[in-house]
Parts: sequence; C-alpha cells; structure tokens
Amino acid sequence: MKKTKASKPHTAALAGNPNVGKSTVFNALTGMRQHTGNWPGKTVGSAEGTFSSLAADYILYDIPGTYSLLAGSADEIAARDLLESGVAEAVVVVCDATCLERNLNLALQITELTPNVILCVNLLDEARSRGIALDLELLSHRLGIPVVGVTAKKKRTLVPLVRALDALVEGGEQPSPVRIEYDPETESLISTLARDHGLDRGRAVRAIASGEYGDAHMRDGIANALVRTAEELCRGVVSVTGAADARDRALDKILTGRFTAFPVMMLFLALILWITVSGANVISEYLSRALFALESPLKYALDALRAPAWLSSMLTSGVYRVIAWVTSVMLPPMAIFFPLFTLLEDVGYLPRIAYNLDRPFHKCGACGKQALTMCMGFGCNAVGVVGCRIIDSPRERMLAILTNSFVPCNGRFPTLTALFSMMIASTLASSLSLAAAVTGGVIASLLATRILSSTILRGETSSFTLELPPYRRPKLCEILVRSVFDRTLFVLRRAVTAAAPAGLLLWIASNVAVGDGTLLTAMSRALDPAASAIGLDGVILLSFILGFPANEIVVPIMIMAYTSSGALTDYTSLSELHGLLAANGWTGVTAVCAAVFTMFHWPCSTTLSTVWAETKSVKWTALAAVIPTAAGVLICAVIAAVFR
Ligand code: GDP
Repeated sequence: MKKTKASKPHTAALAGNPNVGKSTVFNALTGMRQHTGNWPGKTVGSAEGTFSSLAADYILYDIPGTYSLLAGSADEIAARDLLESGVAEAVVVVCDATCLERNLNLALQITELTPNVILCVNLLDEARSRGIALDLELLSHRLGIPVVGVTAKKKRTLVPLVRALDALVEGGEQPSPVRIEYDPETESLISTLARDHGLDRGRAVRAIASGEYGDAHMRDGIANALVRTAEELCRGVVSVTGAADARDRALDKILTGRFTAFPVMMLFLALILWITVSGANVISEYLSRALFALESPLKYALDALRAPAWLSSMLTSGVYRVIAWVTSVMLPPMAIFFPLFTLLEDVGYLPRIAYNLDRPFHKCGACGKQALTMCMGFGCNAVGVVGCRIIDSPRERMLAILTNSFVPCNGRFPTLTALFSMMIASTLASSLSLAAAVTGGVIASLLATRILSSTILRGETSSFTLELPPYRRPKLCEILVRSVFDRTLFVLRRAVTAAAPAGLLLWIASNVAVGDGTLLTAMSRALDPAASAIGLDGVILLSFILGFPANEIVVPIMIMAYTSSGALTDYTSLSELHGLLAANGWTGVTAVCAAVFTMFHWPCSTTLSTVWAETKSVKWTALAAVIPTAAGVLICAVIAAVFR
C-alpha cells in the first residue's frame, strides 16, 4: 500500500570528494543533467533538484566536491555553509569504494556537524573489478550510521539509498556516529570552547583546525586523528585481492616517474595532435565543399523571395560565408581533439599531468594546484579562472588567474591547428609544431608565474597534497556523447554566435567605400604599421581585434577578409588555403608571429569578464589582459626584428 506523503518536502544534501560520482547520483535521483568533468557548467555553486520516493518528496542539494571542511578555499566554505545552515535534514556522503579510507576523512568531519548522515559507497562495480571487497555492514556498525553500497551508473542500485533516506527522515532509527578521539589537550580545549563560547563539537574542532584557537601542534593532531580513525574503521572492512593496484602502481611508475613522466607526456601530446591535424584536413575538405555548395542555392532562394540585392549579398557573402568558414575550419579539429582529450581525462591521466607539473610550479613560487587550473585552462580559460577557487592563498590564486590564459584554450587550439595546417604541408611537421606551441604555452605560463611571484605577487609558497585517483576504464560511448555535445557543440555554438555579427561587420566594412578603397582596406591599412612591427599585417591584427568575443573566429575572419579583397574563393581544404595566405604576402615569419600572437594576446571577452567576476578589481582584470598581450607583442616584435 502506498503511504501518504508529508505535505512539505524533506531536504537532503549530497556531499563528497571531487570525482566520486556525486553528480551521477544527483542526476540519477533528480533526473537533471548536470555536466561532468572540469568544464563549463560544472558544479561550482550548489545545484538543487527534486525527486520523490514512495514515501516522501525531497529537495536535494548538490554541494561542491571537497576533500575536507577544515581548510578555507571558496568551495570548502560554500560546502560548510550549506551543511552548517541546517537546511538539509539529512546528508548523503558519497564515497569512492576504490579509495574508501581516504574518502572517510570528509565523512567523519561531516558527522561531527550533523548526526543525520548516510554513507553512500559508490563505484562498487569498479571496486569489484579491481578485486576490492568491502564489508559495508561492519563499516555501518563501526561508524554508527547507515552505509549503502551503490553503482550510481546503474540507477536501480540507488533504491536502497532512497530507502535509507526515507527511514532517516521519517524518524526511523537515528544514527549515532562514532566519536573521533583527539589528544587530551585538544579535547580539553574543545570542552572549554563549548562551555565558554557555546560552540558545538564540530565547530570547536574547526575553530582549532583553522588556527582561530589552539596551536599548530593541535592542528596537526586533528588531521592525524582523522586519518587514524579512518584507518581503524577500514581495518577488516576493506580487503584487496586483485592485481589492479599493482597495475596502477606500475603504470604510475611510467606516467609519473622521474625520468619517464615528461617524455611520455610529450609523446601523448604529439600523438594526439598528429591524429587531430591529419584527420581535420580530411574532414574539413568535405565539410567546406558541402557548405560552400549551399551558398548559391541560398542566394537563389533569397532572390526568389525578392530580397534586395544588398540584403541577399550581405546574408550570403557576409553572414553565411563566415559561418561556413567557422564550421569548416573549426569543427573538424574540435571533433577529433575533444574526444581524445576527454579520453585522457576519463582514464585518469589529467591529475597525473598536474602531479608531474607540481614541482615546476613550486619552483616558480606558485601552488601546485595551479597545475590543475592550468589543465582546466586547456579546456577553457574562463573555466580555468573559476577553477582557481580551489587555491586557498589569495596570492597564489591571483597568480593562477593572471597566468591562466597563457595556455591555449579550446578556442585557440583549433586556430593554431588551422594556422599550422594552412602553412605547413607535412602533417607530421605541423603536428610537431603544434606540440611545440603547446609546450611553449606551458613554459610561458611558468615563466610569467615566476616573474609575477618575484615582483608584484611576492610571498610564501604553500604546500598541498594532490590525490591521484585510480585509473579507470574509459567509457567510449559516454566520451563521444560528452565531447560532442558538451564540448564540440558548445564551442561551435559560441563561435557561430560570435561569427554571425562579425561576418555582418566584415561585409559592411568591405562594401562601404572610403577614399579609393573600402572601409575594410582602410582599417587594415591603418593597423598595418603597428601590425608589421610585430610581424603581422593589418588584416591579421584586425581579425584578432574582431575575434575578441571568441578566439574561434580569428582564422575565419582572416580568410573572409583576404577573400573579400581578392578574387580567390575556391578552396576545399585547409592545405589549399596556403596559396591564399602566400598571395597576401605571408611568409614563414608571418606564420610564426601569427601563431605566437594566437598563444599570447588578450583573453576573450568571456574569460576577461570571468576574471572581473572572480576578482572584482579593475586593476587585476586589466593586468589579466595586459600581461599576455605584452608577452605576445614582445615576442613577435623580437622575431620580426631578427628576421627582417
Ligand atoms: P563528481 O565529480 O563527484 O560529481 O563525479 P561524477 O558524477 O562526475 O563522476 C565521475 C566519473 O565517475 C564519471 O566519469 C562517471 O561516469 C563515473 N562514475 C560515476 N558513478 C559510477 C559508477 O557507479 N561506476 C562507474 N564505473 N563509474 C561511475
């Protein structure tokens, strides 16, 4: 018989370390589709959804993933505030079954804030395949709270979790969590704080951990007690029989080893770029043929509708053509690069890259976490800038924000690919040049960090521990769906939205007569002197300026501008565009300078507005634009001067 539901919905919160499948649980329960991965749309604030069980209705809050509640990064504070506010009647802490002991640390901290906790041990399928067996009943008994094992990817395994939640909020047996024993000195301070300041145990512990009360010795004591308790709880609960751990360690020896890490990284990079460049050329050829074949039918249709000649020309030669260029130049590299990048992310290689780069970043006076935000920047600099919230120290956070756009984002990646494919005939040579450019970006990011940290952002470097998650078998279907819909189409939509108005502007500029030429030629001529000082020409510089809304449209604008002034319009592949560039005076130096300027110039409008949102400071936002631009201008000017 179905029970009658309470009129007011119950509230529950989902907490957990990053990457334990929290979003998967949230999506499965609420039917919402949150994005996964470090990408636009990733939970930064807390999301909210609703669902109903047979017994009750729920509002479910998704709390940002954190490793701990004791430190002070923005995500941790957001998580803590939500938990402390008491809006959630119950908290479900999602854990990764393959590294339960480490995950218990956060769970224990949460039980000190509220007793109404359910431990949801996720990724049971992976644990099983890695030969990890778990006695969850024993764990529940020791922890004093309900423990439910799930495989969040299979929705039906969540039924017991919902049942446990029902039992908890409907007033079944109430949990009484295990008490963490701190050393006597800390315990006595906790009692004092409770008596004199009215702090409950959880808050007292945090006040000591944050350094508000007590000393460094007590702070270490608290961290140690958490680790020790987790270890004791897991003894006899977790048993490893499989060889998966040994395999992971062997892989780590190669992928993060002292002598092998960097060569392997370079190898992966070159391989991915080679696949991207060689594939992109083929697809781009078909795509541009198909899209440009549509231009005349479109013109006929407009004529049939009796559109005035200027309108029909503006829509076809202006708006449509630039959209066609954007799609045929940008889509192919993205459609190949993103799935490959997502694959690396999915198998767990990205955190290893961050791990490998940890030392160099430390050497440059920055926090190792900056390596992570830099990796996010490879996806999208705006996301990388938001990601800097994981860095606690304001000084190090600013370093990371200011230098994030030194690594090429997914808007500039295909731009570079297109540039190199157009200039260099050999696929291998152009992918190697691309690999060199990316490496250059990382080195420049390190250098800029080093310079900033010894000038305007001087200070102590903090340390942190980077967790290496287990390797995971990639889920190919999911990778395709995610990289196509969340990334490729996301970027393409952004590019097309920016390209359409740019195409319009460009058409107007190339049709309005000024003096003996058009507005376009006048503008590019006006920019010529400045541009030639840095090895470019007026058209290239104009394309970068018009590309401010989205880097993706720089090359298409350039092609449009060149073709609108000349008669050459019949190109079917990126490599054939070589002729167009050469006819417009491009040399090797122009290509190198254009590539350098693609790497280092002002960040796109989205990134800059994100920097503003994160820093609320005109000075830092301006610096975020000036620093990479100055670097680009300087390098290009030197190259131009040397080769002139
Ligand atoms: P979050 O960062 O905690 O929100 O984690 P996500 O929900 O983004 O999941 C991290 C990764 O684990 C994703 O690739 C998921 O597809 C995967 N994942 C989540 N739950 C499971 C599961 O039960 N089994 C397996 N094999 N993978 C899972």
